[in-house]
Amino acid sequence: MKRAYLVAQSFSFLLVGGGCSAGVPSAAPRAEATPAEYRARLLDADRLEVRIRDGSGQFARLTIEEGAEPFVEQLQAAERDGALSDVDLGRWPVDVPVCKAACELRYTIDLRGIAQTFRNPQYGLAVGRDLVMPTTSFLLRPDGAAPSGEFVLRFEQGDMRYESGLRQLSDGSFRARLDDLPQAPYGVFTSAPVEQLSAGQGQLRAVLIGPEIALGTEARRSWIREALADVDNYLNGYSVSPLVIVLSDSGDSVSDGYSLGNGGTSVLVGLGRQIPQEELERDWVMTHELLHTTMPSLASRHNWMEEGYATYAEPIARVKRARLTQQRLFSEWYSALWQGQPFPWDGGLDGTQSWGRLYWGGAGFWLAAELAVYRETNGKKTLADCFAAVAHGSRGIADRWSVERFLAVCDAGLGAAVVRPLYEQLSTKPVTLPLAEYFALLGIKKKDEGVEFFAAPLSGCREALFAP
Ligand SMILES: [Zn+2]
Repeated sequence: MKRAYLVAQSFSFLLVGGGCSAGVPSAAPRAEATPAEYRARLLDADRLEVRIRDGSGQFARLTIEEGAEPFVEQLQAAERDGALSDVDLGRWPVDVPVCKAACELRYTIDLRGIAQTFRNPQYGLAVGRDLVMPTTSFLLRPDGAAPSGEFVLRFEQGDMRYESGLRQLSDGSFRARLDDLPQAPYGVFTSAPVEQLSAGQGQLRAVLIGPEIALGTEARRSWIREALADVDNYLNGYSVSPLVIVLSDSGDSVSDGYSLGNGGTSVLVGLGRQIPQEELERDWVMTHELLHTTMPSLASRHNWMEEGYATYAEPIARVKRARLTQQRLFSEWYSALWQGQPFPWDGGLDGTQSWGRLYWGGAGFWLAAELAVYRETNGKKTLADCFAAVAHGSRGIADRWSVERFLAVCDAGLGAAVVRPLYEQLSTKPVTLPLAEYFALLGIKKKDEGVEFFAAPLSGCREALFAP
């Protein structure tokens, strides 16, 4: 089964040092400007009309997801309260000089055309009448890397609604930052019901796109609830409430999972309608993706930290709830962690793009950190205290953090500078981890099949991982 993949953040961002007492950088406060306003309504099952009002001047040059340009059918603009006139769509990005001041825009866009072109739920996919599509694919946005200020998006809802992982206000509108739009959370035009699911302190919204699975509605909901309970239990609370879009397909397994933040929280997972009960109960993908939602997005060169976190914490979270045995966990680590070791041509972990380094190099980093945490805190803390401090000190994947801020909050949660020194070592230089030594210290020995445990200097660390 393919490991889930976190969509790369293709842009960087600035964090301005603030006056946080913990010495943690935070975004500088900025004057509350009127947000750009989008109003959208479906004209029919395929086409959307969007009206924009903006006073910031940033809509004088417009862009949209690459590949969606031909589906913008008509664009009109006017100064505020003026008469609309056509804008030439011959060249992208599109110049709209009238929007250098307060202006209004109106356009229609062929959503089904986008879906039929991309055929990918991360950009656009038609499933019967439903259209799986993030706002990124259908909202015109200011061109350029870092537009400032927020936007609000209101839908005139008919029998087809727009559901999105974007932050939603009590009046049903969505609100996020304009610089979230280039990679905004997943969403879907649908008439399918949204299910509110909860486990422990955790809550989420789920929507099934496509026919129900053969095992039935309750089995599908239970699959999500169990994963939610894993994460809630591991982090001592789960507060991000994502939209989880489950796309049913004709297969018999859980297929690719994706998580995406930037102004909200969303998960997209493929689920085969013929999946057997035991396969559904054994699934790790949903736990992996929900773990992703609890960690702020870092710049793309640190993707290994995000993938490593989800890869490392997912089996521990499942063992803690007796959904996986320690035997199976350590057997897998025994046979898989070496894939994260550097080859002669590799550099440090920062910037790595290789699958082995992203997932297992990242997981190995966190295992090394776990041992260091045990030693430095005399067994009083585990890495879960770092991850929980980050999860509860942020909006999870909805936020974009610098690695500096992440490390500061993580080590504050541990009460010791443990993870930062290790990061400084492994991020810039290729380091071959002494995995055999780690296993020996933890009291884990390979058998013909699986592993066995024995008393060793750090077997207390192994036990602490799974303590209630
Ligand atoms: Zn992942």
